Amino acid sequence: MSTTLRGNWNYPTTIWAGPGRITELGAACAQAGMRRPLIVTDEGLIHAPMIKSALAALKGAALFGAVRGNPASSHVEAGLQVFRAGEHDGVVAFGGGSALDAGKAVAFMSGQSRPLWDFEDVGDWWTRADPSGIAPVVAVPTTAGTGSEVGRASVILNEATHQKKIIFHPLMMPRIVILDAELTVGLPRNVTAATGIDAFVHCFEAFCAPGFHPLADGVALEGMRLIHQFLPRACADGRDIEARAQMLAAASMGATAFQKGLGGVHAIAHPVGSWFNTHHGLTNAIILPYVMTYNRHAIGEKAEVISRVLNLPAPGFDGFIAWVLEMRRDLGIPHSLAEIGVSADKATIIGSEAAIDPSAGGNPIPVNAAQLEHIFRAAVAGRIETVVSAT
Ligand SMILES: [Zn+2]
Repeated sequence: MSTTLRGNWNYPTTIWAGPGRITELGAACAQAGMRRPLIVTDEGLIHAPMIKSALAALKGAALFGAVRGNPASSHVEAGLQVFRAGEHDGVVAFGGGSALDAGKAVAFMSGQSRPLWDFEDVGDWWTRADPSGIAPVVAVPTTAGTGSEVGRASVILNEATHQKKIIFHPLMMPRIVILDAELTVGLPRNVTAATGIDAFVHCFEAFCAPGFHPLADGVALEGMRLIHQFLPRACADGRDIEARAQMLAAASMGATAFQKGLGGVHAIAHPVGSWFNTHHGLTNAIILPYVMTYNRHAIGEKAEVISRVLNLPAPGFDGFIAWVLEMRRDLGIPHSLAEIGVSADKATIIGSEAAIDPSAGGNPIPVNAAQLEHIFRAAVAGRIETVVSAT
């Protein structure tokens, strides 16, 4: 192995990276000022040995494990009740993106008197929050995808309206992140693939988003390079610690980069996830080439740079999308949304909700509801050639 895969980083938050570093969880909680942490995790992880060990290692800790995929306000409410009843003073958000988002929202809401939706990421609504009522978070991701561990927001489903809303506050950033590749070795191949491509889409959409942000661009390019190199290895052999460690880093890099913006892939994937309860990463992985095709005339130069950084055999947009399609196929990602149970009967709603999703503003060219509906219909049917490229 060419590297020790171990380091302490302070960008964008304090990150302790290295295989086996979950043994430092107690020290992380102490450093974050917690004495009675609440561990928030996914429903599927509550009996996992890693969660039992964490619970045993943390004095005064309790477990809240009722978070499902696409976390909803009811999950946050239930977690808040446990947090308050147990007089906890911080959250260990431990699991996949859903657990991280739910855990961050519980910590954020723990000392607020206004309802959750008052803090949606609209204008300066975040200033409505009482900063002294935000409990600290230690984040421990067990998938390499969303990068929520380095984000200042949570995506929460409003069950009443079926819309995913972004809850934002600068202090929602976890105090300490532990990136321990050993926690991800048990991830099944399909989840590794879907979450890994989500991280790729974060880097890609951020790099192509308009605006002047060379820092984000640099992080995004290196993130894409790592994923190109290591995602196939992590999928081929889940116990490949180097590949797992590089993918965890790349996932954090994707979320670091996308403060620049996302784009049409996420704009469509959010309402699809809300209406059809599909896996976020998988949804993005399927939609990616359809949105790329729509944007192709606007991203030619960017695709040229990406294809050089990835050292692809054919340069430019054509070589890049050929690689995306090949990677998707090799990793077992379905080609159409229909294959994961998504139908076109909500196409009009999906188009209009995608148009008002905050991610839509980061698309390299403006997209309206009709265009997003058209891209969505093509993705349902699996017909990339029917996506009309915008000029
Ligand atoms: Zn994503």
